Amino acid sequence: MVRYVYDFAEGGRELDGLLGGKGANLAEMTRLGLPVPPGFVITTEACRAFLATGAEPDGMFRDVSEHLSALEEGARRRLGHPDDPLLVSVRSGARFSMPGMMETVLDIGLNDASVLGLAEASGNERFAWDSYRRLVQMFGSTVMSVDTALFERALTTLKEDRGVRDDVHLGTEDLAELVEAYRRLIHDETGEGFPQSPAEQLRRAILAVFRSWNGERARLYRRREHIPDDLGTAVTVQRMVYGNLGSDSGSGVAFTRDPATGRPGLYGDYLPDAQGEDVVAGIRNTVPLTDLQHLDPRSYRQLLEHMRTLERHYRDLCDIEFTIERGTLWILQTRVGKRTAEAAFAIAAELTDEGLITQDEALARVGGDGLARLMFPRFDTSATPDALAHGIPASPGAAVGAAVLDSAEAVRRAAEGRQVILVRQETTPDDLPGMIAAQAVLTSRGGKTSHAAVVARGMGKVCVCGAEELTLDTGHRRFTTGDGTVVEEGAVISVDGSAGAVYAGAVPLVDSPLMRHLETGEQPAGTVRDVARALERADGVRRLEVRANADTPEDAARARRFGAQGIGLCRTEHMFLGDRRKLVEEMILARTDREREHALDTLLPLQRQDFAGILEAMDGLPVTIRLLDPPLHEFLPDRTDLAVRIAAAEAHGEQPDPHDTRLLDAVGRMHEANPMLGLRGVRLGLVVPGLVAMQVRAVAEAVVERTRAGGDPHAEIMVPLVGDVTEIRLVRGEVEGVLAAVGEEYGAPVRCPVGTMIELPRAALTAGRIAEEADFFSFGTNDLTQTTWGFSRDDVESAFFSAYLDKGVFDTSPFETLDRSGVGRLVGIAVAEGRATRPDLKIGVCGEHGGDPESVHFFHAAGLDYVSCSPFRVPVARLEAGRAAIVTGDGDTTA
Ligand code: ADP
Ligand code: MG
Ligand code: MG
Repeated sequence: MVRYVYDFAEGGRELDGLLGGKGANLAEMTRLGLPVPPGFVITTEACRAFLATGAEPDGMFRDVSEHLSALEEGARRRLGHPDDPLLVSVRSGARFSMPGMMETVLDIGLNDASVLGLAEASGNERFAWDSYRRLVQMFGSTVMSVDTALFERALTTLKEDRGVRDDVHLGTEDLAELVEAYRRLIHDETGEGFPQSPAEQLRRAILAVFRSWNGERARLYRRREHIPDDLGTAVTVQRMVYGNLGSDSGSGVAFTRDPATGRPGLYGDYLPDAQGEDVVAGIRNTVPLTDLQHLDPRSYRQLLEHMRTLERHYRDLCDIEFTIERGTLWILQTRVGKRTAEAAFAIAAELTDEGLITQDEALARVGGDGLARLMFPRFDTSATPDALAHGIPASPGAAVGAAVLDSAEAVRRAAEGRQVILVRQETTPDDLPGMIAAQAVLTSRGGKTSHAAVVARGMGKVCVCGAEELTLDTGHRRFTTGDGTVVEEGAVISVDGSAGAVYAGAVPLVDSPLMRHLETGEQPAGTVRDVARALERADGVRRLEVRANADTPEDAARARRFGAQGIGLCRTEHMFLGDRRKLVEEMILARTDREREHALDTLLPLQRQDFAGILEAMDGLPVTIRLLDPPLHEFLPDRTDLAVRIAAAEAHGEQPDPHDTRLLDAVGRMHEANPMLGLRGVRLGLVVPGLVAMQVRAVAEAVVERTRAGGDPHAEIMVPLVGDVTEIRLVRGEVEGVLAAVGEEYGAPVRCPVGTMIELPRAALTAGRIAEEADFFSFGTNDLTQTTWGFSRDDVESAFFSAYLDKGVFDTSPFETLDRSGVGRLVGIAVAEGRATRPDLKIGVCGEHGGDPESVHFFHAAGLDYVSCSPFRVPVARLEAGRAAIVTGDGDTTA
C-alpha cells in the first residue's frame, strides 16, 4: 500500500523528492536532535495524484488523521480543543526551493471557542486574538481566494481609526474587532462563513497548498528557474510555536555565512514579538541578529551552536528560520542557501580548507555562469548614491547613457554618436532598432523571459527588466521612481545588469578584479584566488581541451592568457574587408584570368601576414583556419546605393561611372533570395577559381615564414559548409596540391591537417563518408542549429523567440544552449560514424555553444576532444569542462 504521510522522525534529507526540501530538511534536523516542533509531511506523490484527478488519493486523509492523533498525543492537546488547543501550520514545500511562491497557513485550529481557550492557557488574551486574526486572513486569502488587498485595507482602516502605526499597538479588543471585520469580508466575498471546524480547516488548508503548486506565481517561477511542472509540492503539518507571545518571544532568519560574499560570520534579522513572515514582510523594523545576544543570550548561544551543527552537517551555507517562544528556541526551516557568484567561489574554497568538502565537491558547487558574471566590468559604486530603482538582472554588464523613452529617439540619438539607454514599460519586436542602438535596455515590466530580456541577452546587451517601481510617462517624456524622483528624457543613467540596479548619472566603470588577474596574471587575492583555485582544479581533471575562436593576433594572445590551448576557429572574412574590399571587387568583376590573378596576387601577401601574426601568437599550439565562408556579394556595395548613384548621375544628365554600372550588374547577378543557403562555404571554393589556392598558399607561406623564424606553427585548414564527401575531396585535392607546391618552392615540406566543419544535417548524416577525406571535424553548431530547425537566427530571435519561450516550445534558446534532442542527436551520429571510419579523428566544436556551460557538459558526454569559444568564454569553458568530468547534471548553486 502506498504511504502518503511521513512523520518527521521517519524522514531525512535523502527523501526530498517525496517530502519536498522543507519537509525533508525538517526531518533531517529532527534526526540531528535540533529543537524542531514535531509534525508530519504529506508526500508530493499525494499532491500529484490530487492535481491529476482533482481529488486526494484514497487513504490520504486516513493517514493524516493517524499522524495527527500521534501529534496530539505527544502534545497532550487536541487540535482546536476549546481549552488549551493544539494549533498547527500547514506549509508548502517542493523539491526545489521556490521561496514565497506557494502558500502556507499558520494557526490552524482556532475558532470562536478555542481562541478563548488559548487566551486562558497562555495567560495572554491579546496573543490569542492576534493569532486568530492571522488565521482568518491567511485562510481567507489562501484557501477561500479572497483578495489579500481587502484584508490589508481593513487592517489599515482599523489602524487609522485607532490612530496607531504598528500592528503591535492594536489591543485585544481591536484584534477581536478585526477578526469580525475579516469574517464579514469573507462572507461578503464568498457567500460562505469562515469554517469553525478545526478538522475542516486542516483538510481545506492541505488541499489549498496542493493547489498552490499551480498558482500563477509558482508557474512563472518554475519556468524561469527551469523547474519541471510535474513535481508537485509536499505539505508539512507542524505544531505551532509562538513568536508573538510578547517581548520574550520573536522570530528571525539567519545565514551561516554572508550569502553575498561567502565570508563566515553571522547574518540575519530578528523581530521581537512576531510570527511567521513578519520578519521579512517589512511591516516593522527588524534588528540585526547580533542584537539577540543582548535580548536573549541563552537562545542566542543555542542558535549559534545549531548553526554550526547545520553548516557542518550540510557542509554548506545554510539558511535558517527560527522562532523563540518565551525564551525557548525552535528551528523551523533550513536549506542550503542561495548565494551570489562571488560567495559560491568563496564558500567552496573555504569549506575545502576546513576539510569539510573535497576539491571535486568544491568544483561541483561553482559554475561557469557565475564565473562569467565575475568577469564583467563593474560599476565602481563606492562613491555613488543609492539606486534609483531595482529590477530583474536580465543580462549582465554595466552601461551608461542618456535615458530615452522610445525606439525612434534611441536610434536618432545613437546616429549622432551618443550613448543611450532605452527605457520602456516592456519591449516589442518594434523596439528592436532602438534596442540595437542602445547601450542597455531597462523595462518596468516583465521577467527574465520577457522580450526585452531574451533579445538583450541574445545581443549581449545589458538589460534590467521588471523595475516595477518605475512609472513611465511617455507623453511627458519622463519617468518617476518609487520615491517620486523624476527623470527627464535625456538625463544620464547607469544600468547594472548584473545587480539589477539603476543609478542616476554616470557611475564610473572598472575592470573586474578577476579580469585584471586573467589579463595581467597579477597575484590573485580574495575571490579571485578562490576562482583561480577552482580553475586550477578544473584544468587538472578535465578531458576536453579548450580552444578559442580568434581572428586577430590580439585576440589570439588574449585567448592564450585566458588559458586557450589553441584556436578552434580563425575566420578569414574580415581579412577581405576595409581597404581590401576593392581587391575583392576586382576579383569578382574580373573579365579575364589575368585580371583575377592580379587581384588574388595582391591579396596573398596581406593574408600571409595575417596568418603569420596569428601563428606567432599561438606558437606551438594548433590554429584552425577556416576558408572563406560568406557569400561574395557581402563584399560588394549595397544594391540600392548603387542604383541611386547611377540614377542620380543620369538625372543630372551625366554619364554614370562605368565601374558603378559593372558593380550593379554583378550585384544583380549575385543576388540571392536566401544567402544563408546560397553560394557560400565550400561552394565558393569550388566555383570561384583561384580562391582556395590563394588562401591556402597564404597559410602555407606563413607556416614557412614562422618556421624559418624559429617558430613552431601548427596551422590546420578547415572547409566550411560541406554537405557531401565529394565537396571535401575536391577541395582537399586542391589544398594538397598547393601545400606540395609551396613545400617544393621553399625546399621544406608543409604539413597541414585538412578537416571540415559539420554544420549541415547532411554532413552529420553522412559523416562516415566525409571522414574518409577529413583529418578532423569541427561542429559549427550555430549553422547546424539553424539548418536543423530550418530557421535563420537573425530573423527568428527577435521575431518570435519570446513567444516560443512563453509557450514553452523551448525553455532556453537553442542558440544559447545546444538542443540535445535534435541537434545533439546529429552530433552523436556524426561522432560515432566519423570515428568508425577514422578512429583517430579529432573532433571539436566551434559554435558559440562551446562556451555555454550546459552545452559543454553535453560535448564532454558526446566524446568530443575540444570545445572552442570566444576568448572571454575560455575560462568558463575550462571550468565547465572540469565540472563535466566530475559531476553529472548541474551543481551550480549560484543564486
Ligand atoms: P515559505 O516557504 O514561504 O517560507 P513557510 O512554510 O516557511 O513558508 O512558512 C511561513 C512562515 O511561517 C515562516 O516564517 C515560518 O518560519 C513560519 N512558520 C511555519 N510553520 C510554523 C510553526 N509551526 N510555528 C511557527 N511558525 C511557523
Ligand atoms: Mg520558509
Ligand atoms: Mg557556419
